[in-house]
Amino acid sequence: MTDVYTLPDLPYDPGALEPHISGRIMELHHGKHHAAYVKGANAALEKLADIREKGDFSIISMLEKNLAFNVSGHVLHSVFWTNLSPDGGEPTGELETALDETFGGFPAFKAHMTEAAATMQGSGWALASWEPVAGRVMVQQVHDHQGNHGQGTVPLLAIDAWEHAYYLQYANEKAKFFDAIWNVVNWDDVARRYEAARATKLPAA
Ligand code: MN
Repeated sequence: MTDVYTLPDLPYDPGALEPHISGRIMELHHGKHHAAYVKGANAALEKLADIREKGDFSIISMLEKNLAFNVSGHVLHSVFWTNLSPDGGEPTGELETALDETFGGFPAFKAHMTEAAATMQGSGWALASWEPVAGRVMVQQVHDHQGNHGQGTVPLLAIDAWEHAYYLQYANEKAKFFDAIWNVVNWDDVARRYEAARATKLPAA
C-alpha cells in the first residue's frame, strides 16, 4: 500500500525561530515526533485494510483509535509549522475584525489561547478554529491530538502544548514558552487559513 501521508518539510531552517524556539527542539519535534505520527497514520490505514481483507474486525477499536490520534497529530503539526515564522506581528484585516467581534479584541483572544495552552492537563493543544455551523472563530483546548474537539471545525492557529514542544528549552517554565511563541506567529498564514475556512459550509447548517 502506498503511503497516504508524508512528512512535509519545515518551511524554514530549524533554527529560524530562535531564540523563541530552539533549533534542537524544532529538529526533534519535526523529524522525530511529527514523523512518528505520519508513520502511525499510514500503519493504522494499512492494518485496517488488512483486517477488512481478512474479515476479522476483533482489533478494530484499537486501530480506529490509533488512526484518529495519528492523523490528528499529523494535521495539527502540519498546521503548526506553517503557523510559525521568524517574522512575527499581529493580525490585520478581516481576521483582526473577526477576533475583535468574537473575542473583544486581539489581546483577549491571545489571553484565551495562552490560558487554554497553559492550563492543559496532560498533553494537548490550544486551537483556534473556524466553526462552520455558526460561522465564527472558536478556541478549543484539544486533549492529545483529537479529544475534546468539535466536529467539523477547521484549524486556523494551533499551539502545541505537549511537553516535547518546549521542555528541552523551557523545562518546567512552560508559561514562558506560551508567552514567547506569540513572537513567531505567521499571521499571513492564519489569515490565509481563515479565508479558506470561511468558504466551508456544512450542508446540515
Ligand atoms: Mn508536538
